[in-house]
Order: sequence, then structure tokens, then C-alpha cells
Amino acid sequence: MFLDLLSRPLRSLRLSVTDRCNLRCQYCMPEEEYVWLPRKDILTLEEASRLVDIFAELGVSKVRLTGGEPLVRRDVAVLAGMIARNPRIEDLAITTNGVLLAEAAQALYDAGLHRVTVSLDTLRPDRFRALTRRDSHEKVLNGIKAAQQVGFKGLKIDSVIMRGVNEDELVDLLEFCKQIGAEVRFIEYMDVGGATLWSMDKVFSRAEILEALTRQYGRIEPVVEAGWAPADRFVLPDGTVFGIIASTTTPFCRTCDRSRLTADGTWYLCLYAQRGIDLRTPLRAGASKAELMSTIVSGWTGRSDRGAEERHELRFRDALVSAEGLRQDPHLEMHTRGG
Ligand code: SAM
Ligand code: SF4
Ligand code: SF4
Repeated sequence: MFLDLLSRPLRSLRLSVTDRCNLRCQYCMPEEEYVWLPRKDILTLEEASRLVDIFAELGVSKVRLTGGEPLVRRDVAVLAGMIARNPRIEDLAITTNGVLLAEAAQALYDAGLHRVTVSLDTLRPDRFRALTRRDSHEKVLNGIKAAQQVGFKGLKIDSVIMRGVNEDELVDLLEFCKQIGAEVRFIEYMDVGGATLWSMDKVFSRAEILEALTRQYGRIEPVVEAGWAPADRFVLPDGTVFGIIASTTTPFCRTCDRSRLTADGTWYLCLYAQRGIDLRTPLRAGASKAELMSTIVSGWTGRSDRGAEERHELRFRDALVSAEGLRQDPHLEMHTRGG
């Protein structure tokens, strides 16, 4: 097992398959225009799967397909099949906005994908339109239904909660998930690259989420889980479990085993990292497996990133990167490196 400088293992890989997206969520892609990764740089399925196999040999057992919107890449189920065939990969999941999920669910299931997470921030079609600048709310709901119908179990729904936008829907989202047998995770609005409209006063914090839900449901208990991270799963008096991802107000980087590979083969050791490691160039230049492994091992064993904690320690906190900075380097975008 390879450990970084803070003794964290290389275990989990987020694989962004495209930087394109069919929504324009306010907290992720608020601009009118975007600079995209050059098409010629986008890894083929074979290239992406070769890199995943190498990561797996170095200890990665969890892979999450993401983006941009992963289902915009039409052949993503083929890639899922290639990855699912690797016996070292114990957990293969996707995070999707759900818009194209109804069409893709069967193929993903047949390909051997294990788990699906759908991002859904609101149950109100008009609010969805305002938040995403697209009219696709019904498609998302149909996508969720289709995923369950084809047989995916343990569906998760991720909801970014923003003050003044949807903090009044905590209970509705929770009840909706209860009804369909999914687990909801409330996510604090993060100051990641791309969130150019971010400000602290729009963050609806973990403490506020717990307070609002306690008011509605009564006593909420943390779910005690292995490890020593602060609880991010909670249980209501009736047994309903939900999660909170509080990377803004209560970050916890000390157990972070995640890294991210962008669609053009740039490897980031932290969501907040300013620079990544180019794996595409050596891959395309014919580097051997041993050479690629050595690049990855030296990257990981030199890792000391704790981006969210460092942001939390700042006295004055503003958007991470300006719109102009993002145009200069689209790799800094959340929608490029995958959430
Ligand atoms: N397009 C897919 C989706 O939305 O599920 C996958 C990629 S998206 C970048 C992954 C996750 O990042 C989504 O759940 C999204 O809500 C989250 N996200 C994007 N920008 C965020 C921000 N500023 N704060 C918190 N979460 C964010
Ligand atoms: Fe929204 Fe995901 Fe697209 Fe970002 S990548 S705009 S979070 S759907
Ligand atoms: Fe991991 Fe970086 Fe996120 Fe911290 S900020 S949890 S180190 S990806």
C-alpha cells in the first residue's frame, strides 16, 4: 500500500470522463462561456481504462465516474464495463446529474456498475430551471426512477444546499428520499474552482442543517462508523439515515484517500490543487507500465495536500479562482476535475 506524507493510502480515484455538461448549475458553471479541453487531448476509453488498471495495481479499489456530466459521453457504459472487469476494483460508482440517466441506466447496470449517485438540489421544476439554466427537472426524476427499476440498489442523492436558494427544502428532499428508498447527502456550498459566485454568507452550514432538521424531527444521532473522522452520517428518530458533507465549515482532510484524473489525463492529488501531474503525455509517448507506475507512486508518496482545511484556516475567504483565471486554465474548474 502506498502512503502519502500524511499516511493516507492511495485508494480512491475519481475519473472525469468529460469536462462538458448539459446543465449550468449556479454553484459550478455560472458563466456564459467556457473554455473546453481540446478534443484531441481527451483520453480514449482504452487510454482511460489502461490508467485505471495501473492505479488499481497500485492500490486503488474504488473508482467513481464523474465529469462534467459523465453521461454526456455516450460510450461511458463501455468504459464502465472495462473497469468493472478488473477484479481489483471493488467499488465502481457514478455521479451524474441524472438528465440522461433514464436512457443510460440499463446499459450501465449491464456493464457491471455497482452504484449510482444522482445530484438533485430541488424538487421544484421552476427552481431547478433557475438553478441550472435548463428545463430538465422531469428528466432527472425519470432518471432516478429508471436507475431503481433496472436494479441499482443503495441509490444516493446529493443536494448542494445554499442559503437563499434551497435551504427551505431540506425536509422535502429528505422525505422524497425516504419515500424512494434513497439516502440523501446534503453538501455545503464549496469555494472550489468554478464557484465564482461563492461567498461565505451563501453557505448553509452543517450546524444549520442539523439545527433545522432537529427542529422538524427531534433528536438526531451521529452514525458511529469505523475510522476517526467526524461523523458525516446521521440518523433520525425513525431510523432514516442521511449524510452531510461539510467540506466548507468542518473540513477533514486527514483521512482523504481520493485523487482525481481529468478527461485529458491530468492527475490531481486534491480538489483544490493548483497543479496536476500530466499522465497523458507519457502514456501517448509509449511509456511502459513501470514508468507510469513510478510517476504515480512518486506523486502520491510526496503528497501533503489538505486543501479544504487550508481554505478553512484563511481569515478572509473569497472565490478560489477568478473567471479570468479559469479561462486561462480550465483544469481549475470543478466541472473539469470532477466533484
Ligand atoms: N455533473 C455530475 C453531477 O452534477 O452529479 C458530476 C460532476 S459534479 C462536478 C459532482 C458534484 O459536485 C455534484 O454533486 C455537484 O453538486 C457538486 N458541486 C459542484 N460545484 C459545487 C460547489 N461549488 N459546492 C459544492 N458542491 C459542488
Ligand atoms: Fe451541475 Fe454537475 Fe454540470 Fe457542474 S458538472 S454544472 S454540478 S451538473
Ligand atoms: Fe482530500 Fe483535498 Fe478534499 Fe482535503 S480538500 S478532503 S485533501 S481532496
